[in-house]
Amino acid sequence: MNMDAALVLFSGGQDSATCLAWALKHYSHVETLGFDYGQRHAIELDCRAKLRGGMAALNADWKARLGQDHTLALAALGEVSQTALTRETEIAMGEEGLPNTFVPGRNLIFLTFAAALAYRRGIKHIVTGVCETDFSGYPDCRDDTIKALQVALNLGMERRFVLHTPLMWIDKATTWALAEELGGTGLVDLISEESHSCYLGTRDKRHDWGYGCGQCPACDLRAKGFARYLQTRQR
Ligand code: ZN
Repeated sequence: MNMDAALVLFSGGQDSATCLAWALKHYSHVETLGFDYGQRHAIELDCRAKLRGGMAALNADWKARLGQDHTLALAALGEVSQTALTRETEIAMGEEGLPNTFVPGRNLIFLTFAAALAYRRGIKHIVTGVCETDFSGYPDCRDDTIKALQVALNLGMERRFVLHTPLMWIDKATTWALAEELGGTGLVDLISEESHSCYLGTRDKRHDWGYGCGQCPACDLRAKGFARYLQTRQR
């Protein structure tokens, strides 16, 4: 097993792009993994290559460290889940106090496949952008969920994987600040231009924080975080 290699769950959104930069700073070999599960915002998958290329162009060390990109088709996840992320329905709050964008089991399944791939590739570290600070209440983004899953994966695969969640305890404004810390304003510009967060998959409107409808919960979170980040930068 390569103790200095990492696999980043890389969707093409702001969070996973920041995690990729974080991994490129900390590990000598970094591979990326994206999932196609029939998401409405599948456009995010097109952002991945541009973000990878952009980061390689920003930093020669990062270019040398950036390894293979993997994508896995998980159509079954879209088939079993009836959510606003995988169906053309209005985004709304559900009865359990969870938005209907919640895809049950999504991160459990993603991390299980990531571990299976890391097993094959001999990679020890798995990095995911889940966060429970200003999240939508998704239970599979919680720190306890990830810690329990790390135990289950290591028992079930007889490995010593480490699941890393660099964004777990920071909000969206601090995630932008972390990008600046990792790669300067060049990385902030790259992430705002090329990453995708909007649940509706809209990329025809450019705001200072990037492209998106500007209305959905993902756009709202990203826009407010970017505004607060700019305020702290001006101080
Ligand atoms: Zn949106």
